[in-house]
Amino acid sequence: MVADNAADSTKEVNEKMDVLSSTRAVVKTALEKLGYPDEVFELFKDPVRMMTVRIPVRMDDGSIKVFTGYRAQHNDAVGPTKGGVRFHPDVTEKEVKALSIWMSLKAGIVNLPYGGGKGGIVCDPREMSFRELEGLSRGYVRAISQIVGPTKDIPAPDVFTNSQIMAWMMDEYSRIDEFNSPGFITGKPIVLGGSHGRESATAKGVTICINEAAKKRGLDVKGARVIVQGFGNAGSFLSKFLYDAGAKVVGISDAYGALYDSDGLDIDYLLDRRDSFGTVTKLFNNTITNQELLEMDCDILVPAAVENQITEENAHNIKASIVVEAANGPTTMEGTKILTERGILLVPDVLASAGGVTVSYFEWVQNNQGYYWSEEEIDEKLHETMIKAFNSIYNTAETRRVDMRLAAYMIGVRKMAEASRFRGWV
Ligand code: GLU
Repeated sequence: MVADNAADSTKEVNEKMDVLSSTRAVVKTALEKLGYPDEVFELFKDPVRMMTVRIPVRMDDGSIKVFTGYRAQHNDAVGPTKGGVRFHPDVTEKEVKALSIWMSLKAGIVNLPYGGGKGGIVCDPREMSFRELEGLSRGYVRAISQIVGPTKDIPAPDVFTNSQIMAWMMDEYSRIDEFNSPGFITGKPIVLGGSHGRESATAKGVTICINEAAKKRGLDVKGARVIVQGFGNAGSFLSKFLYDAGAKVVGISDAYGALYDSDGLDIDYLLDRRDSFGTVTKLFNNTITNQELLEMDCDILVPAAVENQITEENAHNIKASIVVEAANGPTTMEGTKILTERGILLVPDVLASAGGVTVSYFEWVQNNQGYYWSEEEIDEKLHETMIKAFNSIYNTAETRRVDMRLAAYMIGVRKMAEASRFRGWV
C-alpha cells in the first residue's frame, strides 16, 4: 500500500514536471479559446518530424564514444523550422519536442516566417575537449543533414552551445552541400556571416520586457533589486545590461550555487571571473543554493537557467512582484497559477526570450541577401519587435482576462493554425 502511494506520488511529480504535457495543455486551451477544432490540437501536440541519431566520436584517449542526438521540427506550415541545439546531459526526447513547440510559439509571437524546431545532444560539454566538441558538432550535422538546410530547418545556439560550435556546424554543412551556406545556421561568428547583436539578443529582449513590465507596475528599473538565476549567455548579458542601467543586481547563480548581497553585486567583477560555461560561484565560500536564491528578497526575478525552477513548492515564497522568464520553461503550470493568484506579473518565456530568434531571423535575412546591417539597425528592429509583442500580449491578457502565458500562446499559435488550415492540413 505504502509502495503504491509512493509510486503514485512519484508519477504525479513526474507528470507535473513533464514540460511536454504542460505545454500541450496550454496549447490546447489556447486553441479552444480561439475556437479551433480539436484536429488542430492533434496536429500541434507533437512535432511533424522527429529524428533520433547516434553520433560516434573519437575521444582524446583513443576510444569511440557514441552520443545520442535529436532534431525536432514542430510545424512548417508558415515557413522553414528554426531553433537552437542544446548540449546537455539532461536532454531528453520529450524535452526537445516541448522546446520545438515553444519555438513555434516564439516565431508566432514576434511574427517571423518560421515554424519551430529544436535539437539536442545528450552530453556534458564541460567535460569534453575542444577537439571532441568539434567532432561531436560535425557528426551531428552529418547525421541530420538530410532534414536541415537554409530553406528547411535552421539551427542556432542554445544551452552550452556557442558561435564556435555554429562555425563548425556551418563548415560541415557547407562541405556536404558543396556551397558556402551561411544561411544554414545562425549565431555564427561575425566573420562567417554572423549578425551584430546576436550574442546579446536574448538578454536585450528580456531587458525590453523588464522595462515594459516595470512601467506597467510603476516600478523604476533604476534602483530596483533584481535576481538573475543563471549566468550563461542570457543571464550574464542581462545582469550586465541591468547593472549598467542602474538596477541593483542582488543575486546571480550558476549550476553549482548562488551569490546574494542585498547591497548589490559587482557584476563587472563576476563577468571577468566567469568561465565560458558561466561558472563563477565555485570561487566563493559564502554561496547559497539556487532554490534558496529564488526565494530571496527582490523586486524583479529572472529565471535564466533551466526548466521547472518555480513550482508549487516555492511559488508561495517568491518575493518579487515581477517575474520575467529568460529561460525556456522555468515555471510549472502550478507555479504559474500560484504566481498569478498572488498578483505577480509573470512575463512568459515564449515572449521574454524571443529576442534571440528575432535576431537569428535578421542574421538569416542578411545571409540570404548578402548585405549586412549595422548594430544600430539591428537594435532598432529588435526593440520595435519586442515592444509590439509585449503590448499585444499584455492587452490580450487584459481583454480576454487570462494570464500572460495563455495570452502569449493564443497569439503564438494563431498564424500557424491559419497557415495549416489554408494548406488544407487540418
Ligand atoms: N535557442 C534560442 C531559443 O531558445 C534561439 C533560437 C534561434 O535563434 O533560432 O530561443
